Amino acid sequence: MQTIGLIGGMSFESSAVYYRLLNEMVRERLGDLASAELLLYSVNFEEIVVMQKAGDWAGAAARLGDVASRLETAGAACILICSNTMHLVADEVASRVSVPFLHIIDETAASLKAAGCKRPLLLATRYTMEHGFYTDRMQRLGLDIAVPEAADRTTVHDIIFNELCAGKVLESSREKLMRIIERERAAGADSIILGCTEICLILDPDNLPLPGFDTTKIHATAAIDFALRQTAVA
Ligand code: GLU
Repeated sequence: MQTIGLIGGMSFESSAVYYRLLNEMVRERLGDLASAELLLYSVNFEEIVVMQKAGDWAGAAARLGDVASRLETAGAACILICSNTMHLVADEVASRVSVPFLHIIDETAASLKAAGCKRPLLLATRYTMEHGFYTDRMQRLGLDIAVPEAADRTTVHDIIFNELCAGKVLESSREKLMRIIERERAAGADSIILGCTEICLILDPDNLPLPGFDTTKIHATAAIDFALRQTAVA
């Protein structure tokens, strides 16, 4: 089994989900008490949030690039950024390592296309919904992404940062998200991307009015496929 390198802490609420999923998947696939070989470098999220708010993406890229490099030096055979938002600097981070970088957008697009979805609704942070890096890459991969209207984008962004990243899961917010999903379904969305690694804490992708795609689970599955595929070849 190869060692998975995780850039986490963004937020630690979702890194904990990655940690559990990765270990559960290895136990399911290998049986007995097998668990994942992984390295988790968990950053101080507040420092990243300050850079996000300031639009200091170069600073964030340098910080996460340094973490990626440390993970490779420590023995990671692949690198994951455990946040959709911070894939805004994925190219810079990937360029700092020689091991494979498992890209959350590419893995999510592959899952959507395998399911025959064409017009997914993206629920994510404002950065992910508005900066173009996500929708542009999805478009290049053949998917026509929808994002909620402006007021709804603010609602989703605030739920992520003020609640989910802070460890709060509120029924009232779940209802707000479901209302947004219903509006976008009426407007033609055919699927939902849980495009923030904390959204799985509040929405069950298998219990939505449209097919749900949980980026945290999709990304973790890609990591396990990589780690165990490498074992099979070796
Ligand atoms: N984990 C989140 C994501 O997947 C948001 C936190 C962040 O800004 O990194 O986008």
